[in-house]
Amino acid sequence: MALLQIVEPGQSQAPHQHRLAIGIDLGTTHSLVATMQSGLPRVLPDHDGQVLLPSVVRYLADGHVEVGERARQGAAQDPLNTLISVKRFMGRGLDVLHQLGAQLPYDITLHDNGVPYFRTIAGERSPVEASAEILRVLKLRAEEALGGELAGAVITVPAYFDETQRQATKDAARLAGLQVLRLLNEPTAAAVAYGLDRQAEGIHAIYDLGGGTFDISILRLHQGVFEVLATGGNAALGGDDFDHAIAGWIMASAGIVNPDADVQRRLQMTARKVKEALSQRESVELKLAAGTGGAPADWTGVLTRDAFEQLVAPLVDETLRACRRALRDAGLKAADLAEVVLVGGSTRVPLVRRRVGEFFGRPPLTHLDPDQVVAIGAAVQADILAGNKPDSDLLLLDVIPLSLGLETYGGLVEKIVPRNTPIPVARAQEFTTFKDGQTAMSLHVVQGERELVADCRSLARFTLRGIPPMVAGAARIRVAFQVDADGLLSVTAEETSTGVRAEIVVKPSWGLADEDILRLLRESQQHAVADMQARSLTEARAEAERLWLATEAALAEDGRLLDAHEVAALTRAIAELKTLAAAADSAAITQSAERLNHAGELLAARRMDAGIRQAFAGKNLTELEG
Ligand code: ADP
Ligand code: MG
Repeated sequence: MALLQIVEPGQSQAPHQHRLAIGIDLGTTHSLVATMQSGLPRVLPDHDGQVLLPSVVRYLADGHVEVGERARQGAAQDPLNTLISVKRFMGRGLDVLHQLGAQLPYDITLHDNGVPYFRTIAGERSPVEASAEILRVLKLRAEEALGGELAGAVITVPAYFDETQRQATKDAARLAGLQVLRLLNEPTAAAVAYGLDRQAEGIHAIYDLGGGTFDISILRLHQGVFEVLATGGNAALGGDDFDHAIAGWIMASAGIVNPDADVQRRLQMTARKVKEALSQRESVELKLAAGTGGAPADWTGVLTRDAFEQLVAPLVDETLRACRRALRDAGLKAADLAEVVLVGGSTRVPLVRRRVGEFFGRPPLTHLDPDQVVAIGAAVQADILAGNKPDSDLLLLDVIPLSLGLETYGGLVEKIVPRNTPIPVARAQEFTTFKDGQTAMSLHVVQGERELVADCRSLARFTLRGIPPMVAGAARIRVAFQVDADGLLSVTAEETSTGVRAEIVVKPSWGLADEDILRLLRESQQHAVADMQARSLTEARAEAERLWLATEAALAEDGRLLDAHEVAALTRAIAELKTLAAAADSAAITQSAERLNHAGELLAARRMDAGIRQAFAGKNLTELEG
């Protein structure tokens, strides 16, 4: 997800032929399309001059489909057939029904394939089909404005979108007859729109407050590559909640107690208009006729910007808490950031701008329209991907999509080259042997973010032979990973005291499809906690085994230094540790190991006394240096 991988050099088209390419921001609340003309980004309006297309699809009895403002207007009368916020359903299954289904007016059925379908007057429709309707309108708009056939589109998705959600977005594009040049993360698109990719290195925060969602992304531009250092946010927080807060205020002020669904919808729409007006004005006057939602009398009220800010301050605070978490996840302070970019219609609210500026300690970038910045970035990328730029202008952002590492004792992965590292790159680390007299070491190269080898992808295996016999932990084996500019990975292992070498070239270096990458990343995030537990168990077991092997070896050699009771005590401690190591309680294993360690101290001391200066415990492969 963190990757912005751009075309290979030399793939561009004939220089004179300008290919029509568009960028589409397929949003939860609004969607829009932009393109590059004569080197400048341009958003494309509809016949009425409107740039933002409400992401609303209404199915009519006669088979027609309304998309956009008309559909939104009809939502109140026809909630069952008017799909709002379908983006929330994209690529989701039963989980989304549990999360959203109950609150929504739709009649939803879950198909065998796990996809929720909306039962509409026109038949059952999937979220992908509904999204395709939105894309179709934007495609048509672009074709009419540009007067030709489109070479392709870049469509943006949230940075946290998983593989299925991305695939669903691609499917929708295909249904709409669009050629997808690339899916691009929304925050990356915003950063590109502001030209941050052309600046020096820097860390940027992208604060995106839309209609129903809040996303914060921390991106790092490093040697021409955007890495996503952290994402966070709240999928159920946005401008709609500002509307709810205002609607609640109106109800309380006008004495509306039990509004029906229709009144609720109308209140929402009014609230939204009031909110948007308050971004420009200091106060807005409201009137309500008696009887509306049971209001006892005609009502006139005034909402000032101050009062509005008090209503929504807790919501804005909530976004800042998410920002604080994202910074913490990235291991950063606000002062580490170079730029803060505002995205999404709700960042027009003056309170939001103010508070974000205070939080990050700098004025955020706002000179591009926050509704348009994502589409503009997508258009910039589409133009490049369609081959309209000379090669020199290409962003060559090639990184290692998933970490490369080595299997260590107990099936654990030691990461050598972390994901997002730009190529070419060379990294080395030193390992050592696990057992006394070990003369060969088997090296297993893996890729993935998970802690256990079994959950990563195996790339290659090879063996280093001819290590001179030494006590465990004495050998120095330097393993070097090298990825060249073409993405070829080679791994060498060398015992440094003797120079014994082994080498393997892995071809291609990763060869993972985008989908694989996303799946593996998603799994690593989902499993992070379980992995840590598995890792500590494996480590506890490895440590336990190392300890009992060493103790047994010492007993076999110098057991005569102990009396029968002392030998029995030590043997019991070994047996206990072996039993506990077979179970899955890492804390119990560690405690038992400590007892054995303690019990073994006596023997160690006697051996020392006896002048046997042999290390009681050796180092092992999991213990790393260098
Ligand atoms: P999404 O990315 O979810 O599609 P948008 O970025 O289009 O959402 O943002 C839509 C939200 O922005 C709506 O809640 C809308 O009311 C709000 N919004 C648009 N213009 C303004 C404005 N001038 N002041 C306050 N909020 C606004
Ligand atoms: Mg958006």
